[in-house]
Amino acid sequence: MKKIAMKTPLVEMDGDEMTRILWREIKEKLILPFVDLKTEYYDLGLKRRDETDDEVTFQAAEATKKYGVAVKCATITPNKQRVEEYNLKQMWKSPNGTIRAALDGTVFRAPVLLDCIKPAVKNWQKPITIARHAYGDVYKAAEMRTEKPGKAELVFTDKEGNETRETVYDFECGGVLQAQYNKDTSITSFARSCFNYALSTKQDLWFSTKDTISKKYDQTFKFIFERLYETEYKQAFEQAGITYFYTLIDDAVARVIRSKGGFVWALKNYDGDVMSDMVSTAFGSLAMMTSVLVSPDGKYEYEAAHGTVTWHYYRYLKGEKTSTNPVATIFAWSGALKKRGELDSLPDLTSFGEKMEKATLDTLSSGVMTKDLIPLVEDGVAVREADTEEFLTAVSSRLRDL
Ligand code: NAP
Ligand code: MG
Repeated sequence: MKKIAMKTPLVEMDGDEMTRILWREIKEKLILPFVDLKTEYYDLGLKRRDETDDEVTFQAAEATKKYGVAVKCATITPNKQRVEEYNLKQMWKSPNGTIRAALDGTVFRAPVLLDCIKPAVKNWQKPITIARHAYGDVYKAAEMRTEKPGKAELVFTDKEGNETRETVYDFECGGVLQAQYNKDTSITSFARSCFNYALSTKQDLWFSTKDTISKKYDQTFKFIFERLYETEYKQAFEQAGITYFYTLIDDAVARVIRSKGGFVWALKNYDGDVMSDMVSTAFGSLAMMTSVLVSPDGKYEYEAAHGTVTWHYYRYLKGEKTSTNPVATIFAWSGALKKRGELDSLPDLTSFGEKMEKATLDTLSSGVMTKDLIPLVEDGVAVREADTEEFLTAVSSRLRDL
């Protein structure tokens, strides 16, 4: 069989622990037999990050800017315990944070759905993709507590030293206060990423804030989205047959619960944090959640939403079989291959990415699945627990037949 050719390399970012094992197996069983794979390889495993003083992470981010499509394995974000475990020079920052900062992107998370696993919300038939703005607001806020009465003010001083003041509250007792900010540039990037993602996946885009209450802060978000839509995206949305829809966050929550799914829901940082946990839990499992970082200028980095599955790795090291779910990592690869195929006009590569997904879903639908999914399956559906290797072998043999 002739292997499918590629033009531009994918930026391949290897990672840590159990997901590093999945990574190798997915490549060996599902990709290399079929595709003449071209990648530019960066080892973001913790050991290599430490050896290069994290330079390798920055290089991988730069390569993503250059080539446009990356696929990333889950990586350890070191804490104190990891510094000891790996004898690290320092507590390196989260690679995801570094890459997100370099690409100025927004993270889109969507569940992989199966007929035999019903979402907690009965009427959801299609995935709901959460787009969370990952900058500013309460995550970068200044906070204060006062034990005494007194006046709290918001003061802005411009470069010339002119002050603008706003009274927050004249406290007659102790209390708390907080000042948040965001930047027009960051909000614009967020909006652009959302419009581009909706277009690239042909789904409606919803955006919600509380602009009726927050008449400057949240309204700025609303206006930036609106202006960008009217001036740059409206025509493309109409051509693609999709809509942009703004509504208040409380109205959005009610509509999301009553919806059939099948749209992108853009949210401010805190709202996105909370709602993504709600939506992913209602759909089933983190191991079935795909994640892609999209930059405002259309660069894509695909990954799984879960971590490195440490406990499975420790069992693997002892020579035990593990039943680790590779679905999110398979979909990271298929997503990246499909996007590369689309950008390089290689329909065979795009359709191969689709086949990888179909083979995976067919395997799951046949009842062959990893341990984590078994308790989620509807009553009466026959299932067989597979270890990771058996599962990937089953997917691979289906892939050969497609
Ligand atoms: P985790 O690796 O997602 O695992 C938490 C638990 O969820 C696992 O112990 C396992 O439960 C279950 N699980 C997650 N993914 C699974 C899969 N594919 N198949 C089967 N079960 C799965 O989160 P964590 O333990 O909090 O973090 C471990 C490491 O990952 C940390 O060092 C953290 O820094 C890193 N991390 C990286 C990323 C990223 O790179 N995107 C994201 C999050 C965390 P059972 O043990 O009960 O089977
Ligand atoms: Mg959270």
